[in-house]
Amino acid sequence: MKNYRIAVLAGDGIGPEVVEGTRVVLQAVDDLLRQGGSSLDLVDMAMGLEAYENCGHTLPPETLVGAQECDGILMGPIMNHIYAIGEPGVVNPSKVFRKELDLFANIRPVRAYPGIKALYQDVDIVVVRENTEGFYADRNVLDGNGELRPDADTVVSVRVVTRRASERIAQTAFEVARQRGGKRRVSVAHKANVLRKGCGLFLEACRAVAADFPDITLDAFHVDALAMHLVMRPSEFDVIVSTNLFGDVLSDLTAGLVGGLGLAPGLNAGRSLAMAQAVHGSAPDIAGLNIANPIAEILSAALLLRWLAERHGDTALIRIASLIEEAVALTIKEGTGLTPDLGGSGSTLDVAHSVVESIGTLASLSIGA
Ligand code: NAD
Repeated sequence: MKNYRIAVLAGDGIGPEVVEGTRVVLQAVDDLLRQGGSSLDLVDMAMGLEAYENCGHTLPPETLVGAQECDGILMGPIMNHIYAIGEPGVVNPSKVFRKELDLFANIRPVRAYPGIKALYQDVDIVVVRENTEGFYADRNVLDGNGELRPDADTVVSVRVVTRRASERIAQTAFEVARQRGGKRRVSVAHKANVLRKGCGLFLEACRAVAADFPDITLDAFHVDALAMHLVMRPSEFDVIVSTNLFGDVLSDLTAGLVGGLGLAPGLNAGRSLAMAQAVHGSAPDIAGLNIANPIAEILSAALLLRWLAERHGDTALIRIASLIEEAVALTIKEGTGLTPDLGGSGSTLDVAHSVVESIGTLASLSIGA
């Protein structure tokens, strides 16, 4: 029996819309959880452009402290391309959570859903992306930024690869492959033919960790070749592990294989805290129209619930996480009221309410069984 406190940070652009859709679903499963004595307590906290307008901080200090006191975080996307990073009060909240709270593993699964017109019907891949270093220059130096401009016409971007970060992300990837129990394959995405030292070290770390997982096959691809293989024969892949930037690019690619960013969830996991955050950004082109697909954020919340359930040995919560995933699949299969990215004409909240309805159907079936 536990009361799980989840910090809810709506974010920018479509963030408030998809987070609201996710809240509707979480409130519905909360009703089910309460029957077993546990509960989900959703705690709204300020973040993003609205927080900046209201209190001069894109990530108010009380949000950073408050979120860490919660069991988990649900975060909407931010519109960071317009953030004046470095100005007083302006930080990239996503970076702060990932780097400073050491949410080092970005786990981004995609799967094909029957009913969705997508490139492939047999895709089931997880991208496991290192989240704290790599080519993300804003998290690579103690003071300032790892992008340097020695003169007006020159920029140097610093990329960091450490053995510690590489080994722990490899460890996560192998654990994910083992837990999935599917093809039991981890594929490393690298560019060691050019970035010999950095990607070389990453590969070395992956190979060292592989020794502890004799039941899992390890293979490695230059990231450019892997992009082609993923487009041409994605069903052969299982878990892909990579440094930060390659993982970011590849996870949008894998989302595209199964129907788009509206279906691609993500979890940022550390040792003692995790943050649900869909792969997609703030989608300024559709923000405010109430047509953003909330499924990616809803599935991200399910990943968070499963992570919490495993930490607390809470089998009821594992069932709830699965129930959300099954309800999403049922909603997609039925195909009514889906958002325009999936060919429908429904709204964000239509989809959320359909998922809630599917949860009701599946829950009553399992009680009746
Ligand atoms: P994006 O992911 O916001 O949008 C790419 C395309 O996918 C757009 O056409 C958009 O309409 C569509 N899309 C995205 N999510 C959707 C959804 N849920 N339903 C339906 N369609 C969806 O990427 P972008 O345009 O490159 O970036 C926009 C902003 O988001 C930028 O400021 C970028 O820095 C930021 N961003 C933030 C995050 C994050 O906060 N986690 C991640 C990626 C990008």
